Amino acid sequence: MCGIVGYVGEKQAAPVLLDGLEKLEYRGYDSAGLAVLDGKNNINIARAKGKLCELFKKTDGGKALEGVCGIGHTRWATHGEPSENNAHPHFNDDKTIAAVHNGIIENYAELKGKLSRQGYEFYSETDTEVATKLVDYYYKKHGDPVRAIANFVLRVRGSYALAVLFKDYPDQIFAVRKDSPMIIGVAGGEAFIASDVPAILKYTKSVYYVANTEIAHVEKGKVTFYNLDKEVVEKDLTEITWNAQSAEKDGYEHFMLKEMHEQPRVVKDTVNGLIKDGKIDFSDFGLSDKDIAKVKHITVVACGSAYHAGVAAQYVLEELARIPVRVELSSEFRYRNPVADKNCLVIVISQSGETADSLAALREAKKLKMKTLAIVNVLGSSIAREADGVLYTKAGPEIAVATTKAYSSQLIAGYALALKFATVRNTITQERYKELLSELSTLPEKIECILKQKESIQHFASEAANKKNVFFIGRGVDYAVCIEGSLKLKEISYVHSEAYAAGELKHGPISLIEDGTLVIGVLMQENLIEKTLSNLVETKSRGAYIAAVTCGDDKKVENVADVKITVPYTDGLFAASLAVIPLQLFAYYLSVLKGNDVDKPRNLAKSVTVE
Ligand code: GLU
Repeated sequence: MCGIVGYVGEKQAAPVLLDGLEKLEYRGYDSAGLAVLDGKNNINIARAKGKLCELFKKTDGGKALEGVCGIGHTRWATHGEPSENNAHPHFNDDKTIAAVHNGIIENYAELKGKLSRQGYEFYSETDTEVATKLVDYYYKKHGDPVRAIANFVLRVRGSYALAVLFKDYPDQIFAVRKDSPMIIGVAGGEAFIASDVPAILKYTKSVYYVANTEIAHVEKGKVTFYNLDKEVVEKDLTEITWNAQSAEKDGYEHFMLKEMHEQPRVVKDTVNGLIKDGKIDFSDFGLSDKDIAKVKHITVVACGSAYHAGVAAQYVLEELARIPVRVELSSEFRYRNPVADKNCLVIVISQSGETADSLAALREAKKLKMKTLAIVNVLGSSIAREADGVLYTKAGPEIAVATTKAYSSQLIAGYALALKFATVRNTITQERYKELLSELSTLPEKIECILKQKESIQHFASEAANKKNVFFIGRGVDYAVCIEGSLKLKEISYVHSEAYAAGELKHGPISLIEDGTLVIGVLMQENLIEKTLSNLVETKSRGAYIAAVTCGDDKKVENVADVKITVPYTDGLFAASLAVIPLQLFAYYLSVLKGNDVDKPRNLAKSVTVE
């Protein structure tokens, strides 16, 4: 998720590593650390919580760690709070191996149990320390770093970029990755590892893109790649043509576009983080089956897009778990003197975990002795710390102010809650449960498939560039998507838009429809398509220009819509996860066309820590 840098060459490694980590700061992080092999082949480590300047101070700009070979890391905590102790690098027990890691080891708990039984001690809460000790275990068994890492790859599940120093191999770094980025650059007698191009752009533009599960043996001015059978893999160097600024965005024009493209991965990570042995497992989140059984109703409190994820969750929870759910804006909940109810579970959703209104709502709920559960993205954040239970989304740091990937991962958390509640409350059959679980695992590739059609949405956005008013209408979960699509449009393209439950237009807002008004209908609920379609016809007969987001090849939709945007089929309950993608892209391209500052829209902040 965050940053890895490695260096071996003639220079002192630590200042090069600090410089590289600084270039990766844009990715977001909560702590940082370095490990350097000194002339006597000792591995020395320095770590600090907070910004890089803390590590800079602690190491005197890197001077305190002598040596020409080292690895550096910026951490964005997923397992264990942000602290110096959890910061990377992590050692093996006898301090002969040190490793840094980006990503998530999904089966870390099981591996930790096994390693503990072998006598390993653990000093941090991280999955990374488990990874380090697993490499150590195989290294002690095979006496060979490449074989040790190959065994590690075969044993772990999850996503990772891992860089390892071995005391026995001075001036060498071993690295591997799976579903987490890593590049290796070579220049003269030097070699560099990085999780992203900006970290090493100053030194070289010739890089190797490490493929999934390839193992790299990095030496001064040289790198050898191996497959899992320890056969040498020949690779070609790629010349980077980006400048430093576009490199930060992985070649994408904006962070928002990059983050939209990360959605398949974060959805997959969030799903995988919630499923264990083919079942939704909440055992780590402070919400036992017994707790769930006691809950008689749920109140979701959130702001902005997180509130919209809550609205989608409401439909899914009520449908599957047959439990009453109310969704409220945090800013309202906190001041409306809510009625204390010990049978009510209050779920607080917040990307940053620091949203002031949501934090205050959480405190209000706790004061009233209600059980609380947080759905947050930032580990160790205030909301995560104060709630009784916490379910982490795995979206990684989000830079663009308008959320995309964090919203998508919040949706997944909502589905998982609904499935869990449904099982405990016995309101779902085994077949339906299995069907939905398997559907959940198809969402990443379906999202990917929509992202591939982005040019058609770009074209639609250029047609709609002069619209002054836009309406989004839908029913059920489709309505939940509409409110999010409308907010995206307002936030970044500054176009006035309204989202309405399709049946509500006739009670007032239809009077605003005039020739050319754009009405976007979301038609993903098989049983409601005809109803929403009728509402679209009502606006069309008053001059509206109609776009429809749908998953079928229904001729009736084609007859009504001027523009039809087709997404893959999914169960109506999960429709928000797919239908939102074209709406995000639409808002994005409109914003670009208008020349707006897409990533930093006017008047808005990423984490709203004021009332
Ligand atoms: N899962 C690891 C941790 O929590 C790595 C996080 C990262 O990618 O920075 O320490």
